[in-house]
Amino acid sequence: MDDRLFRNAMGKFATGVTVITTEADDVVHGMTANAFMSVSLDPKLVVISIGHKARMLEKITTSKRFVVNILSDEQKDLSMHFAGQVREDLIVNFETINNMPTIKDSLANIVCNVKTSYIEGDHTLFIGEVTDLVLNDGDPLTYFEGKYGKVVSD
Ligand code: FAD
Repeated sequence: MDDRLFRNAMGKFATGVTVITTEADDVVHGMTANAFMSVSLDPKLVVISIGHKARMLEKITTSKRFVVNILSDEQKDLSMHFAGQVREDLIVNFETINNMPTIKDSLANIVCNVKTSYIEGDHTLFIGEVTDLVLNDGDPLTYFEGKYGKVVSD
């Protein structure tokens, strides 16, 4: 099967956008990700999927902790920045929850300890056990067919 066809099919699934943050060896690292899902209510588990070329893989493997920061529609610049499209003039404001770096003004900061990891193909799935949650009001940033968007109400 053609890679482009597979990518296009996956792009038909509209998602929110997150920035995963962690701190390893006293260095804060962030990465844009939309492969995020809630897994279990009892215990409270989520999953993220990190590509094997991403620097984030080694960072989370070292720290054994990560934060899922769900972005608002006012944080598109941050999503682009943490996907490698660096804006020199962009100021990234990290905050801290329970000694973990978080992105200020996200709709949610979900702090996790890594419970399990699974290597699957060219990605690793990290199951995170949720330890802390912070919520903020706002509307979500969305991603569909490779483009950013917003939720429009009926
Ligand atoms: P780098 O490419 O080195 O870092 C990412 C960017 O963040 C760089 O520009 C860097 O300067 C900046 N940055 C990192 N830390 C800091 C800091 N402390 N302060 C300021 N800037 C910092 N990939 C996946 O593996 N899984 C996914 O689910 C996924 N979903 C994506 C969804 C979207 C909408 C997009 C656009 C991309 C997605 N990607 C995903 C791709 C991923 O975001 C990029 O490949 C990313 O560049 C990989 O990051 P990295 O860990 O290799 O680090």
